[in-house]
Amino acid sequence: MLYDCAVIGTGPAGLSAALNLKIHEKSFVWFGSKNLSDKIERAERISNYPGFYNVTGEALNAAFRQQAEAAGLEITERMVTKAVYAEDHWALFAGPEFYEAKTVILASGTAQTKTIPGETEFLGRGVSYCATCDGGLYRGRTIAAICGNPRFAHEVDFLAGLAEKVYLFPYYKPQRAFAENVETVKKGVAEVLGGDRVNGLRLTDGSTLETDALFCLREAVALTTLFDGLETENGHVKVDRAMRTNLPGVFAAGDCTGRPYQYAKAVGEGNVAAHGVIEML
Ligand SMILES: Cc1cc2nc3c(=O)[nH]c(=O)nc-3n(C[C@H](O)[C@H](O)[C@H](O)COP(=O)(O)OP(=O)(O)OC[C@H]3O[C@@H](n4cnc5c(N)ncnc54)[C@H](O)[C@@H]3O)c2cc1C
Repeated sequence: MLYDCAVIGTGPAGLSAALNLKIHEKSFVWFGSKNLSDKIERAERISNYPGFYNVTGEALNAAFRQQAEAAGLEITERMVTKAVYAEDHWALFAGPEFYEAKTVILASGTAQTKTIPGETEFLGRGVSYCATCDGGLYRGRTIAAICGNPRFAHEVDFLAGLAEKVYLFPYYKPQRAFAENVETVKKGVAEVLGGDRVNGLRLTDGSTLETDALFCLREAVALTTLFDGLETENGHVKVDRAMRTNLPGVFAAGDCTGRPYQYAKAVGEGNVAAHGVIEML
């Protein structure tokens, strides 16, 4: 199916865009988390969002979820890892599937997802962003996994069930045990090493570790990895007042377009981007 639009991100910017596309009866696929945004959930008290004085982040996120459900919005709980322009529309790769859309609204939150040296170079040659899609390639072999959020712990379990050995690099304090073949490494990954394919990692203390693959299980994919040729400025997506990027049919909204990082700005930009899409369609 060729959708009118694909919305990447379920924070306030993505929600606002999705609500407007729905009201205007556009067909769209909405990628992100059914919990919407961890960034909202983590806020202790919010006093600058109209209509909700001194609300907790948890309560605001619950209100957003309720509105999304009431409007009949559906979330495709998948991370988009690559978007490729195919003559007159976009092909988006997410998990084991790919989706097609005439336009895209990028609302993926803060853009400063740093890549490790070698990560982009070895993408598809040992580096992967999706355990479900690529885990099977490493059955009985050695895998390293960077886990950016406890939300992805089940993906580590999945990899542990396939691989002989998993080296886990958690970017948070793990709250629970993993299978016996999972070894937690208390160092960072400095570089991905290899020839034709990944064969190891250089760690932050200068030592090396042999591995057949590196899975980067993070909240977001670096914008320039997601879209080849996307114009950025100081790490943010460059947009005009209609939230158009330099790429055909691609709009951006929210924290990914720059400061201030605020709910009201994200919601407003999501609205403008959706209207830009509607006008373009
Ligand atoms: C602790 C804390 C307190 C805050 N307090 C306030 C406050 O009081 N007032 C205020 O105005 N702002 C506050 N903020 C800022 C506010 O949370 C952000 O400005 C806002 O959430 C930005 O919305 P967004 O939609 O741009 O991105 P986000 O809320 O970051 O949502 C982006 C979503 O996109 C998803 N995503 C990213 N990449 C992909 C991909 N490739 N595929 C699929 N999904 C993807 C992410 O998982 C995430 O769910 C606070 C932030 C924090 C962290």
